[in-house]
Amino acid sequence: MGASPAARAAPRSGLVVHYGGSDQGLAARDHAACLAYWRRTRAFHTGPARGWADIGYSFMACPHGYVIEGRGLYRVQAAQPGGNSSHYSVTLATGPTDPVTPEQVNAVRELRRWLMEPGTSVAGRVLGHRDFVSTSCPGDRAYALVRSGAFEQPPGPGQNTEVPGMLGLRIGSRGAAVKLLQLRITGRASATPWAGAGSTPGTDRPRPRPCGCAGPTSAAGPCPGTATR
Ligand SMILES: [Zn+2]
Ligand SMILES: [Zn+2]
Repeated sequence: MGASPAARAAPRSGLVVHYGGSDQGLAARDHAACLAYWRRTRAFHTGPARGWADIGYSFMACPHGYVIEGRGLYRVQAAQPGGNSSHYSVTLATGPTDPVTPEQVNAVRELRRWLMEPGTSVAGRVLGHRDFVSTSCPGDRAYALVRSGAFEQPPGPGQNTEVPGMLGLRIGSRGAAVKLLQLRITGRASATPWAGAGSTPGTDRPRPRPCGCAGPTSAAGPCPGTATR
C-alpha cells in the first residue's frame, strides 16, 4: 500500500496528545490554514532540520473538528519516546494560549473511537506527551483535558458542515467518512494533497518551533521527544 515511508508498527496501547509548542491561531482561521500548517510541519520534519521519514505524528485533530492524516495507521512515529511504536500520536497544533476547541476535543474522541474498532483494536487510553518524557507538550490546557478524561468520552453528535474534498473525519462521522479516511491512508500517494510536497523556501513565515514536541523555550535544542527518527 502506498502508505507512509516510516517503518511499520502495530500500536495497540492508546493515543498520545501533542501540541504545536507555539501559538498557531488556527481556531480563528479557515481550515485551509490547518492544511498549510500540516504541509509546513511535514516539510520541516522531513527536511534537513530533522531528516525524518515523514511528519512525526500519526494524526492531527484540528480546531475545526477534522482529523488529518500524518503517518497514519501502522507506522512508527517520531512523537513520544517510549511510545512511538506502542501508541498512536495526535497533535492539536495548539500553543500555550491557543484554545482547545470543543470540535477539536470531539475530533480526538472520534479518532479514538475509530482506533478502538476491531480492525485496529487500540486501547482507549489517552495520554499526554509529558506522560512519557519531561516536556511542556501537550500544553497545560490540553493536558488538563487529558487528566480529566475528556478525550476518553464518547464523541458527540455532528455539528460541523461538510467541507468538500476534505481529508478526515468530521464530528459525527460514521462509516462513509471513516472509510474515506481509510482509503486515503491506503491510497496515500495519490490521494493526499501534500504527499511529496515540500514547502517553497522563502514563502513560510519564520516559525520558531514547527515541530510540536518541545516547548517554545527549547527552540535551541533538539526536540526531546523526537531526537532520533
Ligand atoms: Zn482545521
Ligand atoms: Zn509532543
